[in-house]
Amino acid sequence: MELKNSMKIVLNDILKGKRKVALGGHVRPDGDCVGSCMGLYLYLKEQYPDISADVYLETVPEAYRIINGTDEVKTEALDGEPYDLFICLDCGDPERLGFSRPLFEAAKETLCIDHHVSNDAFADENYIVPDASSTSELVFTLLDTDKISRASAEALYMGIAHDTGVFQYSCTSPETMETAAALMRKGIDASKIIEKTYYEKTYIQNQILGRALLESMLIMDKKCIISVIRKKSMDFFHAAPADLEGIVSQLRMTKGVEVAIFLHELAPQKFKVSLRSKGLVDVSEIAKYYGGGGHVRAAGVTMEGSSHDVINNITARIVHQLKHEEEQEQEL
Ligand code: AMP
Ligand code: MN
Ligand code: MN
Repeated sequence: MELKNSMKIVLNDILKGKRKVALGGHVRPDGDCVGSCMGLYLYLKEQYPDISADVYLETVPEAYRIINGTDEVKTEALDGEPYDLFICLDCGDPERLGFSRPLFEAAKETLCIDHHVSNDAFADENYIVPDASSTSELVFTLLDTDKISRASAEALYMGIAHDTGVFQYSCTSPETMETAAALMRKGIDASKIIEKTYYEKTYIQNQILGRALLESMLIMDKKCIISVIRKKSMDFFHAAPADLEGIVSQLRMTKGVEVAIFLHELAPQKFKVSLRSKGLVDVSEIAKYYGGGGHVRAAGVTMEGSSHDVINNITARIVHQLKHEEEQEQEL
């Protein structure tokens, strides 16, 4: 795996002399965010009993609560003595820490473990590997395999399974499979984790997915699929933002499509945009251009304006990239 702006770190060295350690992930935590935070949190609690560790995350989605320790997650940052170390996981920039950002800023030392290509190494110490399937896989490389408990293995396995689309996306490497195998050997119920946290959907989630699929449109000579979910649909179905997870991946599966664009209305004239691509388009470049970030094949950004403006702006960047590709091909 290629290292970006960072060297492999040694957990023991970083934790030396630390009494109070905080862990935090990105806003609207996904499977990898929860998996990497909980995997490391459980390991620290078990292997470093002298360290007092706290994990800060926005409300953990119901499906992920089968992971041990999720009931101990802190959902607000209270004033207090600064942490000796703040470890941020699966978070590409400090703004995306959300409510835990002040704790990160106040901490005596900071460490970032992440795999977002858009991450510009914002902590004191950075372990950023854009080629890694997931932050959970990176956390695994920092731990002593023999000392990983079943509970910690369950969390890390969930994170890897989620960010690889259950070992399907191109970010899945032989090392990813070896890591999954090592975690399975801890006696976890891998099928149950995948079924309960990835595939199982509530009735509401399926209804809103159906709505998004029904209203989707093919544009750009059918290379691109778009769908918009408005606030009034969310209210109609009693859906929460977390219920939209997975919709963009389903859109991406449409045969012949290169890019899937999913817009979720946060407020009037304000949209959360999720982007997925199959092979040609670097969606992290597009998200970053508009102030967001992510990975080459999966990225996100919040944009303002009408849904038409947002879609026009995004598709303009896709056209720009595809044109550039064509020009390069002609030069060869
Ligand atoms: P999403 O479409 O929200 O599932 O996000 C896809 C990927 O892009 C995830 O790895 C996110 O962490 C990342 N991402 C999403 N939104 C943003 C944002 N506003 N800024 C930076 N990274 C983002
Ligand atoms: Mn994530
Ligand atoms: Mn991730």
